Amino acid sequence: MKTIDDLDVAGRRVFVRADLNVPLAGDEITDDGRIRAAVPTITKLAERGAKVIVASHLGRPKGAPDPQFSLRPVAARLGELLGKDVAFATDTVGDSAKATVAALADGEVTLLENLRFNAGETAKDDAERGAFADALAALADAYVGDGFGAVHRKHASVYDLPARLPHAAGGLIATEVGVLKKLTEDVARPYVVVLGGAKVSDKLGVIDHLLGKADRLLIGGGMAYTFLAAQGHEVGKSLLQEDQIPAVKEYLARAEKQGVEFVLPVDVVAAPDFPDLKAQAPTHPVVVAADAIPADLEGLDIGPETRKLFAAKLADAATVFWNGPMGVFEHPDYADGTRAVARALLDSPAFTVVGGGDSAAAVRILGFDENAFGHISTGGGASLEYLEGKTLPGLAALED
Ligand code: ADP
Ligand code: MG
Repeated sequence: MKTIDDLDVAGRRVFVRADLNVPLAGDEITDDGRIRAAVPTITKLAERGAKVIVASHLGRPKGAPDPQFSLRPVAARLGELLGKDVAFATDTVGDSAKATVAALADGEVTLLENLRFNAGETAKDDAERGAFADALAALADAYVGDGFGAVHRKHASVYDLPARLPHAAGGLIATEVGVLKKLTEDVARPYVVVLGGAKVSDKLGVIDHLLGKADRLLIGGGMAYTFLAAQGHEVGKSLLQEDQIPAVKEYLARAEKQGVEFVLPVDVVAAPDFPDLKAQAPTHPVVVAADAIPADLEGLDIGPETRKLFAAKLADAATVFWNGPMGVFEHPDYADGTRAVARALLDSPAFTVVGGGDSAAAVRILGFDENAFGHISTGGGASLEYLEGKTLPGLAALED
């Protein structure tokens, strides 16, 4: 894999596929970690006289412009962090993008609008994706892949575009791959994996692979309820993927056979409704046993007994990988579980890797010093799939 040092960039238009998919509340950026992580590569390219075209996705728009997913607030923050103006193009391959790129002087930076405002970015159809990649390629002379959080996606800007331009990996991707490699080669044991978050189906699959690697799996967040349901418990209004129950049952059986320890919540913090994250008004949470969740309640965080249990299961770890918050940490009533796991990781001498956009944001939003963790990855799904040993389209595309 070439690095940006191998790329001829002076005076050339360099397309940087970054991952600036930051959490937003309205047009307020609640955690700018991914923007900060993108800065070093952009700065380096600008200093070397490139005309830098930065592009990213944000959220999951449906292949058409949608103002709530605009990258405009990100352009402003990126400009502050770079200490220079970032021209914002209001489209990706249209008149605005073309004019903005044409106006770039050497060393200047532009950010294009959300790539996913085009159906071609995420299209399953190779030709449709290819056509969008062609249009992107026409804007640039070289490509730098640095959006680690998106490398597991076979998307036009991640997979098809590098094939059309001289390409290299940016510094962020190089760092991320270096750290995750450590977790796949001879990892120090006990190796404990903590999984949570909301994207249950995305994450159940990785457990399959982790069963062969990890010594212990702690399950919190939204996915825990599918496990509790698989054990025959009622989960009320909690997040549940019924179609995954057979798979989960199989994991639990296999873990027992292989001597891998599964640790599930013993109590949860629940409420009648999902909290209003905008208003942040106090709610009325109750703690209930994980095997006795009332039908009219939704589990929104791990309970106090579970926090103690998880902390104990992390205390002797030598390596920890954590992906996914333990609860709806965006509301203070449901942040304690995530806070407890973060604290347990800091207290443990283990090499800790935190992966996942929301997990990484949670660590910072809850006030922890991110430098105290071994590594905070900008990639959630990407880091999981890397650990699974899958070929990641965005990394494969950067090979020579
Ligand atoms: P990451 O980005 O770290 O990979 P995910 O995107 O999978 O994590 O999940 C993060 C989201 O999961 C957060 O927005 C959080 O509110 C949500 N979440 C955590 N626990 C629950 C739960 N019990 N019910 C619903 N949502 C949850
Ligand atoms: Mg997320």
